[in-house]
Amino acid sequence: MSDIQTTYFEFWQETASRIKETLPQQEFNTWFNRIAYLRSEERKVILAGASQFILDTVIARYRDLIVNTLSELTGEDINVEFVVVSRSEIEHIGKPHETTKQEVIQEKVVEAPPKQRISEEKTLKMKTDCNLNPSYEFNTFVIGDNSAFAYNASLAIAKNPGVSYNPCLIYGGVGLGKTHLLNSIGNYIINNTPELKVMYVTAEMFTNEFIESIGSQKTQHFKNKFRKVDVLLIDDIHFLQGKDSTQEELFHTFNNLYESKKQMVFTCDRPISELKNITDRLSSRFERGLNVDLQPPNYETRMAILKKKLFERGASMSDEILNYIATNVCTNVRDLESSLTKLVAYSELLGQEISFDKGKELLGILPSLAANANQTLSIDTIIKVVGEYFNVSSFEIKGKKKNKSLIQPRQIAMFLARDITEYSTTEIGTEFGGRDHTTVMHSYDRIESLMKGDEAFANTIMKLKRDLTSVKK
Ligand code: ADP
Ligand code: MG
Repeated sequence: MSDIQTTYFEFWQETASRIKETLPQQEFNTWFNRIAYLRSEERKVILAGASQFILDTVIARYRDLIVNTLSELTGEDINVEFVVVSRSEIEHIGKPHETTKQEVIQEKVVEAPPKQRISEEKTLKMKTDCNLNPSYEFNTFVIGDNSAFAYNASLAIAKNPGVSYNPCLIYGGVGLGKTHLLNSIGNYIINNTPELKVMYVTAEMFTNEFIESIGSQKTQHFKNKFRKVDVLLIDDIHFLQGKDSTQEELFHTFNNLYESKKQMVFTCDRPISELKNITDRLSSRFERGLNVDLQPPNYETRMAILKKKLFERGASMSDEILNYIATNVCTNVRDLESSLTKLVAYSELLGQEISFDKGKELLGILPSLAANANQTLSIDTIIKVVGEYFNVSSFEIKGKKKNKSLIQPRQIAMFLARDITEYSTTEIGTEFGGRDHTTVMHSYDRIESLMKGDEAFANTIMKLKRDLTSVKK
């Protein structure tokens, strides 16, 4: 070893031991036991880690701290470089924070036995302990244009929890894969960094546990449980609407985790701006960080999903039938899946492949298709009824033209769609020729304010509303 190396090695040891004092022990062990001093060059320290994932995390979280501490100790501008080496080499190189023999001995006494590969069984148990559904993994998720952004964000989070996008909100309609992605994040983290404590809950579970903890006077236990995790995944936060004290509790949990840079990911069935009865301070926190949406898949993605699901089940089906399903079931992935399940089950029962006609017949009575057929009130019906009243076609209402004679009927139809149906503004926007949800919100506000100032106008809208709701019955 040259002098420079000896010197920097000692500086590195001192750096690591200083950092150790500033970090929680578990955090330090998680990351700093996985990197080691490799060698030095002039004004450069080269550190090694056993995977790119570990290095990415260390770089994102601690690079500045390491560089600053080293530079401060040496009085020079030190560069730090990171390289990947095999796990056994890391052990060979030695742990970075073994400063003195004394400490090494003490460490040895308390040190856990060398890390063994965690058995699959144990991993599975860990996943179920934190409420994760182990079958939702990134590799079973089919990526399409509709979901690429949400998928990539989720994967980045899973690779670098607490670093990339914190918090993150994934929103979109029912059956579009929110729960699947949320669980994939948790499962990935447990597979790759089992030391991190992950917790998955639905907002409903969170609410129920909170209420229970009040009843049994165990609120402190509840608080501790949620504030001690490294990764908190809360599904379906729209459930919290109108639940004031649960919102308050989540607000404090959020702040606590946020301050200690713990990862949070939420899902919601609509953009946060459309939630009702959520306190501003909580909704502003959900909106902090990254918000990504999931849209319904297009035809090609629907076909790809069907083929993947078929393959996973080891079943087969003619392209003609798959095409029929993909063409007719456009709403969401859950409906696609249940169509397929039904046909696969039938074919297994029969022990033969299903003919196209039989497939069609079976699908005809699928709840998803039946629901489409007699859906309570579709946005298309609203557009049609409003169009007839103002003597403009549905085509024109959905179109891009901005004539005065079209703008108001379009806004009224959007207003009524939002007022009468349960569709989110994102879904309504899609039905109105792919408009943005903010356009729908703007239209709603505009019509609402016109109604306030003009009684005759308000009566017209109310009449249309009555006509439409009687169509429903
Ligand atoms: P959400 O939580 O948005 O209502 P889920 O995550 O429960 O939807 O998805 C419904 C079903 O569809 C699940 O079985 C899920 O595995 C499947 N699914 C959704 N999106 C995809 C996708 N892109 N690729 C594969 N399966 C998907
Ligand atoms: Mg869900």
